[in-house]
Amino acid sequence: MSPSKKIVEVVIPTGIGKTLHYSVPPAFEPRIQAGMRVRVPLGPRQATGYVVDWVKTAEVLTLRDILEVLDATPLLDQWLLDFTRWAADYYLAPWGRLLQYAVPPIAQRKDRRAIQIPPPPEQAQELRAAYRPDRPGSEQLATEEIVAAVRAGLYKVFLLRAHSRLAVYLKAIDTTLKTGKSCLLLVPEILQIEPIATQLKLMLGLDPLIIHGELNPRKRLDNWLKIKASKNSVVIGTRSAVFAPISNLGLIIVDEEQDISYKQEESPRYHARDLSLVRARGSGAAVLLGSAAPSMESYYHVQTGKYHGLRLHEEASHSPAVEIVDLREAPRSGFVSEPLKKAVVRHVAKGDSIALFINRRGFAHGIFCRDCGYTARCPSCNIAAAYHKETRQLRCHYCGRIQPPIDSCPDCRGARLIAVGSGTERVFEEVKTVLPEARIERLDRDLIGGKKKRREVAARLAETRAEVFIGTQLLLSWSELPTFSLIGLVWADQGLHLPDFRAGERTFQLLTLLMQRSKEEVLIQTYTPDHPAIQFAAQRDYAGFAQTELETRKALGLPPYRRLIRLVVNGRREGPVQRAAESLAAILHRMAGEKDRTGEDKGRFDILGPVPAPVSKRRSRYRWHLLLRGRDPGPLHHWAAAGIQAWTNKNPATGIKLEIDVDPLQML
Ligand SMILES: [Zn+2]
Ligand SMILES: [Zn+2]
Repeated sequence: MSPSKKIVEVVIPTGIGKTLHYSVPPAFEPRIQAGMRVRVPLGPRQATGYVVDWVKTAEVLTLRDILEVLDATPLLDQWLLDFTRWAADYYLAPWGRLLQYAVPPIAQRKDRRAIQIPPPPEQAQELRAAYRPDRPGSEQLATEEIVAAVRAGLYKVFLLRAHSRLAVYLKAIDTTLKTGKSCLLLVPEILQIEPIATQLKLMLGLDPLIIHGELNPRKRLDNWLKIKASKNSVVIGTRSAVFAPISNLGLIIVDEEQDISYKQEESPRYHARDLSLVRARGSGAAVLLGSAAPSMESYYHVQTGKYHGLRLHEEASHSPAVEIVDLREAPRSGFVSEPLKKAVVRHVAKGDSIALFINRRGFAHGIFCRDCGYTARCPSCNIAAAYHKETRQLRCHYCGRIQPPIDSCPDCRGARLIAVGSGTERVFEEVKTVLPEARIERLDRDLIGGKKKRREVAARLAETRAEVFIGTQLLLSWSELPTFSLIGLVWADQGLHLPDFRAGERTFQLLTLLMQRSKEEVLIQTYTPDHPAIQFAAQRDYAGFAQTELETRKALGLPPYRRLIRLVVNGRREGPVQRAAESLAAILHRMAGEKDRTGEDKGRFDILGPVPAPVSKRRSRYRWHLLLRGRDPGPLHHWAAAGIQAWTNKNPATGIKLEIDVDPLQML
């Protein structure tokens, strides 16, 4: 390498943890800029990477030249580089992995064509009609505060706790656009994009730009380019839209902010709601978080004054009557108790639509031998395999592995097998025997996978006009459903006993959201009628629940009072996995100890575990986990990163992998 050549720092969008340095041939020097794609040599191969910076001195002695510059203008703006770098540091993930979300998938192919970035259209928003809110009042007051922050270009976070939030969203979006800025609206589910886009069209005459994972690559690139070119647009999307190249951002709305779909459950394990705050802070935008039952974290931030809480005066007259059915005492022959059966029959006789909720697909939780206690399990995950009667399969809900059903016990050859627990298929059968003439529909992921299947189901629903819907969480996000006069929760405490400290919060939120879908009556079947999550939900007392829950979290040192990082060590043999997890913990303990001796306050960090994860085997890999806990994210992350680095340098046994989950939402 000649010393006169300039050097650039390049990120390769794969799992490579660090940035690489390359020299720039003089011919490329005048036109190369940060944010452009380049072809570079990588070992014996070539790769496409992103120029992220110029550097003065290289880390290695022999530098290799950049082979080709692929773009005429930078694909990534500087703020997007800064944002993704911040996210990579925070989530302890390779920067390249985060950059993958900031560019359309097509730009990551070996396709060498430059992506032409069009100039901004002159009148992007000419479709826009004047919007007059038809219901002034508390909505007006709430939006005025948001609008003031948007106008002032202030980073401010609002938490709107209300059931109907659309009017506030529309008004806030309308005003933001009028100030000449752009809006980003995040929703947890692809299914929720279309209805809200339709509302924006109808009420504001807007044509929002849409970003989600099911768009075909062409359309995605097309929308990405339009977003990049526009200075005054509305973008709607799911999780990854938080990386959309919107410049001139005035407002980010995160609807159903408590929804765990905002957290990606594979690396990089980022949280779109939390990242939206970072984005907004960087661009002086306001954030509006909306939910009927906000996360404990967001509610806590309102209590401490970090966020600004907003409420609407919602009429209590819409609230349905709620009855709790104690499954330990209620007369029943199956999973639907007599009181619930009677209510179903009564409502259907009136010609109303009703819904029964059960949060599990399939027919039964598992197959169990009455003679020897054998349980049919997934061989890869060692977890009970659910029985799907309709397709005659045993299916693992963790890895998807399918096995043929069994007619006799493989252990004792006995034939007394029973299907334990319930799922949508079983509840369907039960209701069918009570109401053989009724039009009943099942609604779960087994029926609705992908766009095509969804359209088929939507068409069938429109045609059959079902009276009884039996479904999972899809009941909440499927917009083509009628209003229900009765909602029955077949097993409300189903998720309550999972080994996860957020089980109570999730149950409360689920109940709250389901209850609001019924206009007359709600029946909650439960084995634990006295649990706070059930009681407070039935009384519609969010503040009461939050106070109880936060007191517990505080006493136990759990989020939002402490920060967590979850480390899962996995591998094909259990012995090496356990030893690797223990050595990781030992290194971290030692490092925490060293910090103590340097005079920093003791007990700032601690480690829970290592122990086998609740799902101790998944896809044939054994799993051990440990939780790192600390008060402040900065030092905690620093400690974790240093510990993981030291552990990696010591070369754990081959085939051992580490999952890093910062601010984990799943503990299984
Ligand atoms: Zn048996
Ligand atoms: Zn499995």
